[in-house]
Amino acid sequence: MADRIPAVFLGHGNPMQALASNDYTRAWRRLGEKMPRPRAILAISAHWYGSKTAVTAVATPRTLHDFGGFPQELYQVQYPAPGDPVLAHEIQRLLAPLAVSLDESWGLDHGTWSVLRHVYPDADVPVVQLSIDATKAADYHFGIGRALAPLRDEGVLILGSGNLIHNLRMYAWNKPSQEPYDWAARFDNKVQELMRAGDNAPLIQYETLGPDAALAIPTPDHYLPLLYVLGTRQPGDLVRFPVSGIEGGSLSMLAVELGTVSGHQKPVFGDFRKPAGGARTH
Ligand code: ZN
Repeated sequence: MADRIPAVFLGHGNPMQALASNDYTRAWRRLGEKMPRPRAILAISAHWYGSKTAVTAVATPRTLHDFGGFPQELYQVQYPAPGDPVLAHEIQRLLAPLAVSLDESWGLDHGTWSVLRHVYPDADVPVVQLSIDATKAADYHFGIGRALAPLRDEGVLILGSGNLIHNLRMYAWNKPSQEPYDWAARFDNKVQELMRAGDNAPLIQYETLGPDAALAIPTPDHYLPLLYVLGTRQPGDLVRFPVSGIEGGSLSMLAVELGTVSGHQKPVFGDFRKPAGGARTH
C-alpha cells in the first residue's frame, strides 16, 4: 500500500493569489514539497457549485478563467495539468449508488488552479474536479468525503478549495490589513478547536454555531469543500493548520491538513504558524 496521502483544505482567497508570492503562496508551495507525492488530485472547489454531483472526465482539462474584472495577466494563466478519466470512473464507482455524472465540459476553475499553481507549479500531477451539489444539505457533502476516503490510500490527494470565512459584503476592500472582526476571529478559533477535537457534528451542522457562523458563512459554497476534506479523516490523522490569517477582516485564509502520525513525525509546517485571528497582508 502506498503511503496514505494527507487530505488538505486550502483557503484560496483572491484569485490574484495565483500570481502572488507571499506567505500564503510560499506555504502552499512548501506543502507540495513536503507531502508524499500523489498520483492524482481530486479537487473540490467552491467555484463548481451547481445542481448535481459530477466529476471531470477529460484527458486535458481546460483552464477556466471564471471571474471578471481582473488584470489581463490573470486571464493568461494556464494550468495544463492532465486529467485522469480512469480516476473519474473510479470515483463514480466509489460513490455508487449515488448518481455521479461524468463531465466533459468543465475543466479546472480558479479555485483549483490558483492554489495548485503554487502547490504543484509544474502542473504534472493529474487533476480531476468533483462538483458541489448546491441543492443538498451539509451532511451529504461530508458523506461524500467519507466515501472518498479510501482514495487517500491509493495515492490520491483530496483537496478542498474554498474559504472557512467568506463574507465579502463586510470585507474591507480598501484595507486588506484590516484587523479581523471579532466574530471572524472567534469563529476561526472555534472551528480550529472543533477540528483539533475531531468534533465533526457541529462543523456539519454549522448553523448551530450561532451568529458568528451566520456571518462567516453567508452562503455555503466556500465552506462546503472543508466538509469533504473532514469526511476523509481517519483514525490516527492529526490535524494541522499550515496557513492561518484573516484578510480584510472577514476572509479566512486558514488551511487544514489531515495526515497520519506515522507519516509525519515532525511538524511539517512548524515554521509557518501565527496565532489565529492575525491579519496578514499581501
Ligand atoms: Zn473563491
